Amino acid sequence: MKHSTLFFFLLILISSSCSKKLKIVNLSASLDVDEIAVIVSDKKEECNCIDPTAYIPDDRFPEYQDLKIVQVNFHYPNASNKQYNWTGKDAVTFSKKLINACNYQLINNIKMNLPEGNDTPVYDAGYRLELAEDKNTESGMAVYEDVDDENWFYIKKGKGKNNYSRTIIKKFAVNEDSLLNFFAMVYPPDSLKVEGFSSGRAGIALGTSLKIAGVKKHPINEVWKFASVSNHEVGHVFGLRHSWYKNDGCDDTPPHPNCWASTKDGKCAGVISNNMMDYNNIQRALSPCQIGTVMKTMHRINSKVRGLIKKDWCTYNPEKSLIVREDLELNRSVDMKGDIIIEEDITLRLSCRTHMPAGAKIIVKPGAKLILNAARIHNDCGKSWGGFDIQSIGNKKGMIEYLGDVRIENLPNSLSIESDSE
Ligand SMILES: [Zn+2]
Repeated sequence: MKHSTLFFFLLILISSSCSKKLKIVNLSASLDVDEIAVIVSDKKEECNCIDPTAYIPDDRFPEYQDLKIVQVNFHYPNASNKQYNWTGKDAVTFSKKLINACNYQLINNIKMNLPEGNDTPVYDAGYRLELAEDKNTESGMAVYEDVDDENWFYIKKGKGKNNYSRTIIKKFAVNEDSLLNFFAMVYPPDSLKVEGFSSGRAGIALGTSLKIAGVKKHPINEVWKFASVSNHEVGHVFGLRHSWYKNDGCDDTPPHPNCWASTKDGKCAGVISNNMMDYNNIQRALSPCQIGTVMKTMHRINSKVRGLIKKDWCTYNPEKSLIVREDLELNRSVDMKGDIIIEEDITLRLSCRTHMPAGAKIIVKPGAKLILNAARIHNDCGKSWGGFDIQSIGNKKGMIEYLGDVRIENLPNSLSIESDSE
């Protein structure tokens, strides 16, 4: 080929590719989406949206599994003489330090001891505790000194046992729909003198509240000693069961004799569990399935305990956009904070509930495919979201496929807007 001919050929090639403009169709009404979607089947493909393993962190895509923040208030029940529990600045300091110690453990999750020789991955727990504010208290924090001369103490065994009692919770819990009410309690000093009185660190989860006991037995700078028992109870609130049992819902937490410490011989000889949901002297490790269980619970719409999570997924943040660069199936609910962008020739399949913040879009690039398998896409904050941008270049188009009953809710209007861009 002569040079001049080659040049001419290249010129045609360049000019023809330039003439192929990127076309974007924005669909901001569910009827318009229905119109362009290809109905592959009227039946959904089987998908269990509450399988904890679907909620295990996926290192490839951190954007759809952003941190969940549990908002907490603290109660320090006391007798009217205010002698037995933390008060004033000490109570606030205890609360703040305890939250920090709990979060330290959630961030710095440790490797499981069991089964011996395991290669179970270790993930950040993916949630944190946060002390709520209250303008009506002197400290400005949601820390309360509850006075009740009959119920200020905690007894977990024997005479006067009241650990399961909700009396103190019913009387003093506030904002139970939006805050985890944390009752930091003490043992009665008289009982502590009785031989055999059970006074170790203890706790109990009761609905959206929890109690821990013995908080005044140690100085404030030893508050970290209560982090494990607190995280254990928070774990119960968000659906975790004791993990020494076989039926705790997780295959990566093997059953075992639930030993507090390792002994020379007998059933507790050798390696013992260090799991947060067992009774042992470590109580630190959370398995991937346990993290998945907590996340599953936190994503269950309308569940009582979801209300305890700070609703920080309502504001659109483009930096939290999920860019799908390899095929991805999400068999779980998701609370997005940014857009979802499906790159060219890539497939994303949604089978459960997906929240999109106000204004956020799902962008389907040329050749990309969005499969909606009986999926529900909505805005969880009473607003509308930005709809779908379907992109095409020439014959290469973005596609949406439907399987089963797809629900697309909270779109702003019934008009679809077409635009061209270079
Ligand atoms: Zn427990």
